[in-house]
Amino acid sequence: MFSKNKTFFNWGRNVNINPKKLLPKNYKELKKITNKKSFVVHGNQRSYGDVCVNKDLLVSMKNFNKIKYFHKKNGIIKIESGMLLKNLLPIIIKEGWFIPVTPGTKYVSLGGMVANNVHGKNVFKNQIKQHIKEIELLRLNKKKIKCSKKKNNKIFDLTIGGFGLTGIILSVTLELKKINSSYLEQKIIEFNSFEEFFSLSKNINDYEYSVFWIDYFTKKKIKGLNYLAKHSKISFGKSLIFKDKKIGIINSFFSKLIIKNYIFSRIINFLYRKYKKYSYKKICNFNEVFYPQDYFIDWNKIYGNKGFFEIQFIIPKNKFKKILSEISFFFKKEKIFSPFVVIKKVNDKGKYLNFCGSGYSISLDFEINKNFKTLKLFFNSIIKKNKLKVNFSKDLIVNKFNASNYPDFKIFKKEISLLNPQKKINSIFSKRLHI
Ligand SMILES: Cc1cc2nc3c(=O)[nH]c(=O)nc-3n(C[C@H](O)[C@H](O)[C@H](O)COP(=O)(O)OP(=O)(O)OC[C@H]3O[C@@H](n4cnc5c(N)ncnc54)[C@H](O)[C@@H]3O)c2cc1C
Repeated sequence: MFSKNKTFFNWGRNVNINPKKLLPKNYKELKKITNKKSFVVHGNQRSYGDVCVNKDLLVSMKNFNKIKYFHKKNGIIKIESGMLLKNLLPIIIKEGWFIPVTPGTKYVSLGGMVANNVHGKNVFKNQIKQHIKEIELLRLNKKKIKCSKKKNNKIFDLTIGGFGLTGIILSVTLELKKINSSYLEQKIIEFNSFEEFFSLSKNINDYEYSVFWIDYFTKKKIKGLNYLAKHSKISFGKSLIFKDKKIGIINSFFSKLIIKNYIFSRIINFLYRKYKKYSYKKICNFNEVFYPQDYFIDWNKIYGNKGFFEIQFIIPKNKFKKILSEISFFFKKEKIFSPFVVIKKVNDKGKYLNFCGSGYSISLDFEINKNFKTLKLFFNSIIKKNKLKVNFSKDLIVNKFNASNYPDFKIFKKEISLLNPQKKINSIFSKRLHI
């Protein structure tokens, strides 16, 4: 087992700690980890917040990266938790299958996707949970168990979206999505008002994926682009090999201008919206639809030394305009803006701390600077006042009182304490929320 000390950053680069890191090579070595006093398992550290960080010990699953079986006819696949989606995609796409729910990056592990119950752009069934058949889990009592909707179903529900606190996920069995092509048909529609926005969110027709990239919003207006997509029926593309590209000095310079300068950001967003409206590709490679943020693999570095954070919560439709108006008023007053705002319509059920509900999920990114405290206070108060549900898998700022907006929070805490009685598995997140 290889161990080294290294300064560790999560994706938001907002937690700078110096834990030990272990890379177990096999199951025997992994089992020994359960004797450790304080650790957290991580996948590929693509979580924006603090769910994948522990000050004492980080356990990497990178050596557990094999496909255990793949039924090419019915699309059932069993994958070890350390495998990256990036490496899985070429294998399944070649056989006419796709991941049923994908986050906006392919640089994630299957274990991380399960523990964070990732959601995507799917119009229906937008949680990976809805496509998982079985999980193999190494519990802290050293027992390896299988869990599914039928077997050990409580642990199954607690593990998906359980932020790694139930044990070590060894493998996951998924039901893949049948596709006829690696291409998608895409439609991009501009909206300039709340009426147009609401109308678009209703009229999705036969598109399978939908997301709203917001240019800007005020009390009276919301502007941006609605991206819709569905899997195409035309033949497969040739190359499924991805090349990692770093952001470089010039792109980094312009990106920094966008995130730091409101006027510049508005101009770029405006030009981009006009450009995309008139010139867009109807047929797109899946990378362009699902993973535009992977274009530069190190874009998170543009936010500088203190990093950035993202807040994501669900706003019920009847409060949507009111809450957006409050946020825009706050931005104006404090001279703050978010360079990346994304909205998705959601309508999904879930258990425990799963990020689900009915309404509009909004995510906003912010550079961490002198405004951090003010932003933290403001969003905690909006969340508290309106009893909003937060995506904890991305969170960095929500306080333990707001976690109780989840009716199942207390039950989740109690069940986790039975599976993890000495809190051996813990993260900065679990400590922050007193789980
Ligand atoms: C560009 C970008 C776009 C994104 N878009 C989305 C999106 O659209 N939707 C969305 O939901 N998320 C999104 N995310 C967040 C990211 O997809 C998730 O946080 C993902 O789960 C991270 O996977 P990971 O392998 O990096 O896990 P990590 O960040 O390393 O860990 C995540 C959690 O999983 C636990 N964990 C990991 N492996 C195991 C294991 N084997 N056993 C037990 N616990 C384990 C960790 O303890 C931690 O709690 C995005 C992230 C980026 C960078």
